[in-house]
Amino acid sequence: MNDQFSAEHSPRKLIIAIDGPAGAGKSTIASRLARKLGYINLESGAMYRALALQAIENDVSFDDETALLALAQKSRIQLEPTRDGNRTLLNGHDVSPRIRERDVTEAASRVSVHPAVRAWMVARQREMGEGGGIVMEGRDIGTKVFPDADLKIFLDADPVVREQRRMEQHKIKGEVAANLAADLRERDHRDRTRAASPLMAAEDAVVIDSTALDEAEVLAKVEALAAERLHP
Ligand code: C5P
Repeated sequence: MNDQFSAEHSPRKLIIAIDGPAGAGKSTIASRLARKLGYINLESGAMYRALALQAIENDVSFDDETALLALAQKSRIQLEPTRDGNRTLLNGHDVSPRIRERDVTEAASRVSVHPAVRAWMVARQREMGEGGGIVMEGRDIGTKVFPDADLKIFLDADPVVREQRRMEQHKIKGEVAANLAADLRERDHRDRTRAASPLMAAEDAVVIDSTALDEAEVLAKVEALAAERLHP
């Protein structure tokens, strides 16, 4: 790390928001940037996934906003940052692999449409990140959770490229791949068109289109932006 970039020598502990659709590369970039800066990386999507799992296990309808809020209020959802991303604990149990499964993924995008659920999540996310020194990723971090974030990135990519990346990531092909692509499109559509905090770039976000960029190129851009904010 060169001096210009060094976070250790900066008195400022930034709040960095990374938003964008599924498959744009947010998680990888957020965790690598956080590691470089010595910051904590928080995946807000894992919290919606954990609530979705609670709803599945407790037979609560994904459409029942009141019951979902009550469920959230009595659940203990914790994110533990590790070198390989967040470990997600639900009532003390590690549910990290389980919340990546297809049923939970779909349910997460359905429970997240409800304003009361979102308000509860946003309050928790603010508590976790208010001290700074964090890279938080999600769909509404720059628009709602931290509208005054020091740096806002909106990471996007062509839908076909995002689908391909997800397939490579999960090493799948054939019918399963077709399902994944359809799921991703449906989830995207729901995230972008919901009434409460739809997925969109904040006005002051830096939009990075990663369609034709590899991971190292995106990371270099994001690191340069963080360096500017650390040492204006
Ligand atoms: O980021 P991830 O794919 O794990 O998020 C799962 C789902 O949670 C998303 O499809 C989205 O519906 C919801 N979500 C959200 N707001 C966030 C993070 C995730 O609505 N900040």
